[in-house]
Amino acid sequence: MTMGAKVRVSFASRPGDEAIENEDFVAAKEGTVVVLDGVTPMDRTDTGCQHGVAWFARTVGTQLLQSSHMSTRPLADCLADAIVRTRDDHAGTCNIDHPDSPAATVAAVRIRDGVLDFLVLADSAVVLDGAELEVVTDHRAGDVSRWLRRRGERPTGPAVRSYRNRPRGYWVAAHQPDAAYEAIVGSAPVDGLRRVVLATDGATRLVDTFKLLKWEEALDDLTSCGLEAFLDRTRDVERDDAARGRRHGAKVHDDATIVLLSDL
Ligand SMILES: [Zn+2]
Repeated sequence: MTMGAKVRVSFASRPGDEAIENEDFVAAKEGTVVVLDGVTPMDRTDTGCQHGVAWFARTVGTQLLQSSHMSTRPLADCLADAIVRTRDDHAGTCNIDHPDSPAATVAAVRIRDGVLDFLVLADSAVVLDGAELEVVTDHRAGDVSRWLRRRGERPTGPAVRSYRNRPRGYWVAAHQPDAAYEAIVGSAPVDGLRRVVLATDGATRLVDTFKLLKWEEALDDLTSCGLEAFLDRTRDVERDDAARGRRHGAKVHDDATIVLLSDL
């Protein structure tokens, strides 16, 4: 496969709360796909940014698609550029040093010259279905919660956030370009791949949170039943779980985005 060659890309995305704009963002051009998940702020009225989380995810995502498509530069370099351009877009009007300034997780893939490059920053996922199934995701934010608990500290939102974009903490796309080089990156020959999935953590709950499916089964569901049906099932399971009072995580529903690359 050559750069820009044909590949089938399908996606589904929906907000966790119909009253709030979907803060996930997805964009694709031929074999380049970017998925971002805007981090929910503690207080939407106090982020130092007049643009909001959806704008931030959309701006970084658009810049990343532009800088990576038809380029051979490493995806981490492209993401660092996208972070800098976005920062410069609002540094003059907003307080980008606010501790809860907008941030986003990033998952990206790019097909070029028979190779698929991938990048994952924070807890979105890239799943490569080849000779073996490879799930690429970065759980360092969850690790911070776990070791705070082990030290006898409560992993409150502000406590975990104080380790954002710090060594030994966790990394997301905010305004520091260095975060791009904390992403998990890699490449795989396209010939060995059948399907590739990108997903925000709101769309991986059937696998990660509820453990109802293994990724192999999730991929077969996505292929046979479609992406909308997969998100419908996620919402049904979340509603059942909430009704039983066993809520997993802080939100009943989260913004959910899933992308399937097939016919590779
Ligand atoms: Zn702003």
